[in-house]
Amino acid sequence: MRCPIIVANWKLHKLRADTRLFIDGLLDRLGARGDDDWTSVEVVIAPPLTALAEARGALGGSPIELAAQAVSAERSGAFTGEVSAEMIADAGCRYCLVGHSERRQSYGETDAIVARKTSALLAAGVRPIVCIGETLAQRESGETERVLGHQIEVGLANVPAAQAFQLVVAYEPVWAIGTGVTARPGQAQQAHRFIRDTLERRFSSAAESIRIQYGGSVNPENVAQLMAQPDIDGALVGGASLDPASFAAIVQYDRREDMSS
Ligand code: PEP
Repeated sequence: MRCPIIVANWKLHKLRADTRLFIDGLLDRLGARGDDDWTSVEVVIAPPLTALAEARGALGGSPIELAAQAVSAERSGAFTGEVSAEMIADAGCRYCLVGHSERRQSYGETDAIVARKTSALLAAGVRPIVCIGETLAQRESGETERVLGHQIEVGLANVPAAQAFQLVVAYEPVWAIGTGVTARPGQAQQAHRFIRDTLERRFSSAAESIRIQYGGSVNPENVAQLMAQPDIDGALVGGASLDPASFAAIVQYDRREDMSS
């Protein structure tokens, strides 16, 4: 049984004071200040690097985990401005995003670089959240599965089956990120099933434990329908994760359903 994972990707937003306000508001809304059974999903926040220490302090003993949004493929040396996987682990991150479409588009993060970063993270004990997804042009020309297959084959080329359980894969159709356009649940499920089958060919039975998140304009209104799909194991949330009320509603998608039935 895979535990669903919901990740807040703050991108280039929030100073330290905003971070503390957000986390205080989120913990209050979730009733998550102790170890009580407050949610059935794993919750992760990916603030900017400059707010990680503040986030760690504000989270206190809560089970919410931290992620970094990017990492260097290099271990150490003359790489001005970079942050290594070991540094990310040292800052208290259990997870790190790799291959987000914004990194691919604006910073030249290729599948080969994704493979190196994924290896570096696993070596440092940080779980990679490997983002894949097709553009609108690729979908419209029927290339979705070819693109996803290639991103998996090359991006995860260095991962041994014994470490596959550490991976999270985020399916993020590029046309749905930050656009307000969400993939229809059935459309997302079809892509997730293809990703699951591809992971099974690559990792055999170890693929069963890999969680596959959906990302792309997830919000409190559409999250429950997406999460109801059999191969969707979580959500990677951008815009709707910036407000504690909206992110808390997403995290508690199953409770809201209970309340309405
Ligand atoms: C993202 O940043 O990964 C993302 C999915 O953003 P949004 O939810 O705003 O589409």
